[in-house]
Amino acid sequence: MLANQTIEKSDTKDCPVCGETIKAVAIKCRFCNTDLQAYAAQVEHESERVLFEGHPATIYSVWQWFVVVPTLGIGYLYYWFKARGLRYEITTQRVKLERGIFSKVKDNVELFTIEHFDLNSPFGMRLMGYCILQLRSSDTSYSELHLYGIKNLETLADTLRDCSMRERTRRRVTAIIHP
Ligand SMILES: [Zn+2]
Repeated sequence: MLANQTIEKSDTKDCPVCGETIKAVAIKCRFCNTDLQAYAAQVEHESERVLFEGHPATIYSVWQWFVVVPTLGIGYLYYWFKARGLRYEITTQRVKLERGIFSKVKDNVELFTIEHFDLNSPFGMRLMGYCILQLRSSDTSYSELHLYGIKNLETLADTLRDCSMRERTRRRVTAIIHP
């Protein structure tokens, strides 16, 4: 009996909601009845983190040099304005796109609606270390988005996939608890 109590003591944690001491393996607090798995998912959901913020690179494909060089840099200016006219804000929960330099048009796609993450690296981009991430959403107003001109886009794509999965799970878990 005594041995049992010792084990129990070393194997406890404080409930994050009510502060009572509960078993470390508990999935539900026996004092306040909080579903701890759903609670942890909710906390994760509320802490939205920015993964990438900014414009795409001005030059992201080798082919662009074939325009920049013969036009003595005027082509560069064109690409620069084009890049300035697009702004990404990618977080653990959504992808925001802002288009236009003077009048801003915003797209806001929730990650959990994205069903396909496709990475393409056309030859000209691959030489520059860039690729395109194609996002296909179940949200019909933004059926397809293209992200490009971002360094380490492959790693970012993996993170986005994980975030999308977690967000779906959270929504399922929350739906079961609060139908
Ligand atoms: Zn509790």
